[in-house]
Amino acid sequence: MAYGERILRRDTQGDDVVELQLRLAGFRGTLPDGDFGPGTELQVKAFQRDCMRLPAPTGIVDRATFQAIDDLARRFPIDFDTLRCRCGTCSGFGQGKFKGLYFGGVKTEQNHRYEYPGIHRMILWAARALFAYRADLRFVFSSGYRCSVDNQIHQRTTTNHHGKAVDIDIVLAPGMGKREDMDRCNEVRGLLVEKSNAQIGWLGANRKSLEPADIAPTWVHYDVRSYEPQYLKDSFFCQDLAGLDRRLPITV
Ligand SMILES: [Zn+2]
Repeated sequence: MAYGERILRRDTQGDDVVELQLRLAGFRGTLPDGDFGPGTELQVKAFQRDCMRLPAPTGIVDRATFQAIDDLARRFPIDFDTLRCRCGTCSGFGQGKFKGLYFGGVKTEQNHRYEYPGIHRMILWAARALFAYRADLRFVFSSGYRCSVDNQIHQRTTTNHHGKAVDIDIVLAPGMGKREDMDRCNEVRGLLVEKSNAQIGWLGANRKSLEPADIAPTWVHYDVRSYEPQYLKDSFFCQDLAGLDRRLPITV
């Protein structure tokens, strides 16, 4: 069934459940596996409680919940110009090179040189949840896609930004200094750990990861590097707002 064509609840399975799990990635978060289990139910309840402000969340994705997810996208459109690679050679999201090739031959996602075809939708939907949780702050993306050419120009060896990561900056209020900026970034990381099931570092498999404060003092680095390959399928990546939102008619 296409997303929006049927009510989703505990024990539902299918591609529409995958779509739901991706869109609610920032509300507790679970695996985009298409299986509506207890984790997904908690995810839906978190969205209904925190975003829809329902006093008694049901965990059932009905018409009102589908519409509220669409509203979240509408409230926080993503400016893809701020996410495009700046190398001047690729189209903005790499050239699809180096699939299955690893730095040093070590087959971990950290060393995977593949230029994924866009930015992972889960990261951008999760960013929207952050924007909603902290609607009092103004956020911008300071870094999105950085392809292998861009890495070469800047002599970087990390492949994190081959579509699996974004760096988020909090716009400073006038007169605000570095100390306060660092404190606020720590605060935001704390919120993402609490509300979005993110982890600091990359120890656990299949969790959204944040760089620790010593690596990212004045920005928030958010990535999906610790996910297994089945959650990093090409189809999970997008290059524009239409590809991120995949707006579909809600007919339930
Ligand atoms: Zn590039």
